[in-house]
Amino acid sequence: MLTEKIALVTGASRGIGRAIACALAREGAFVLVNYNGSRDKAFEVVAQIEEEGGHGEAVECDVSDFEACGKMIEGAVAKYAHIDILVNNAGVTRDGLIMRMSEADYDQVLNTNLKGAFNTIRHLSRQLLKQRSGKIINISSVSGILGNAGQANYSASKAGLIGLTKSVARELAGRGICVNAVAPGFVDTEMTRAMPQKVREEAVKTIPLGRMGSPEDIARMVAFLAGDGGDYVTGQVFCVDGGLCI
Ligand code: NAP
Repeated sequence: MLTEKIALVTGASRGIGRAIACALAREGAFVLVNYNGSRDKAFEVVAQIEEEGGHGEAVECDVSDFEACGKMIEGAVAKYAHIDILVNNAGVTRDGLIMRMSEADYDQVLNTNLKGAFNTIRHLSRQLLKQRSGKIINISSVSGILGNAGQANYSASKAGLIGLTKSVARELAGRGICVNAVAPGFVDTEMTRAMPQKVREEAVKTIPLGRMGSPEDIARMVAFLAGDGGDYVTGQVFCVDGGLCI
């Protein structure tokens, strides 16, 4: 159980982040539901958490903004005294072939997916070191492991998250802080619903378990790592992908 734990989940207004926020709240954590553009949806997530008997609060912050992340984390620590679980889930795609990819699309994906995680970890790490405990879970992707045509920016950001995870795991392990990455495969959210139906069908054919993942499939792994199950696990990458990476 995560009773009395404070969890911050970035990009929790929709999709996988929403499922993670709800799963952590069901385990008893107080969940800070971070959002950027989807204010109403973030408030819906908090309402769902409360309907299910949990507790949470919506927090606006663009994770690609270093100063804003500092303010979000300082504000949360001032209000709740500690943060025990950080899930870096916020992510975007701007797909395109490398020969046509714009600098802006490259920068936006890297700044959100990779620098966003640096920003939150950088601002929270001092507090976690003081607490001598904590769990950081970075949401990577199989795209960062296998690569994916049309996703050079996204794959680079997700592979970068794996390097960030392993280095920070080594730095913080001495104080009992565990840092891991979860690499989802092909999950049914707005991100993948934006793909053409035919591409989705072809992608499903490559999944050994024969179906897309649900946000809850990913949330269960995150809840495990955030809880006692993750106490002796650090610097690892867990593929939750229906066997895609076999
Ligand atoms: P999604 O449905 O598109 O949701 C993305 C979330 O990220 C939203 O809550 C969005 O919040 C938030 N976000 C985007 N930019 C942000 C920013 N600058 N600051 C704060 N929040 C921001 O995506 P998803 O499919 O749930 O994906 C969640 C994570 O899983 C991502 O990191 C993604 O790369 C990863 N992943 C997804 C799949 C998949 O198949 N779906 C596979 C592998 C990995 P607002 O709407 O409030 O802006």
